[in-house]
Amino acid sequence: MREPVTAFVGLGANLGDAQQALRDALAGLARIPQTVVVRSSRMYRSAPVDAGGPDYLNAVAQVETRLTAPQLLAQLQSLEQAAGRERPYRNAPRTLDLDLLLFGAARIESATLTVPHPRMRERAFVLLPLRELAPERVSAEDLAAVAHQRIAALPAAS
Ligand code: ADP
Ligand code: MG
Repeated sequence: MREPVTAFVGLGANLGDAQQALRDALAGLARIPQTVVVRSSRMYRSAPVDAGGPDYLNAVAQVETRLTAPQLLAQLQSLEQAAGRERPYRNAPRTLDLDLLLFGAARIESATLTVPHPRMRERAFVLLPLRELAPERVSAEDLAAVAHQRIAALPAAS
């Protein structure tokens, strides 16, 4: 049996009820086999970085998993797909983006998976929630580099 690994997953949504999409995604993470959600950050509202459109809601979840990184990525992708198929009465599918940010201390560079996530250090919406859960993995230099990005934590859920 593999030893469990601590991994961090970035969550983002920006359509319709994005807050509900993130809640659903967290519930979905908790149903991934051989994986438990240890805790999750607050939710943050952030301006889109590379595109226009509505603000994003973002969060980061810490999981412990006995899956391999590619297996975990496949599970994240099936949650993304499931979110796109939910609530078929709506005109537009909700988007859900699930990124594998960190997988223990692993460094992975395959055609389909790069870990640590290659763009995480450029994104306040990853670094701020990640810092809540794993401050040792976010440096002051990283934070300074994204300080200009507009982002705010939502009030804690009741
Ligand atoms: P982004 O998250 O960069 O805005 P996408 O979610 O559309 O863009 O990118 C998905 C693609 O990125 C997938 O095909 C997946 O194979 C690849 N990918 C590479 N590394 C990772 C990672 N660490 N986490 C999630 N997807 C990754
Ligand atoms: Mg993604």
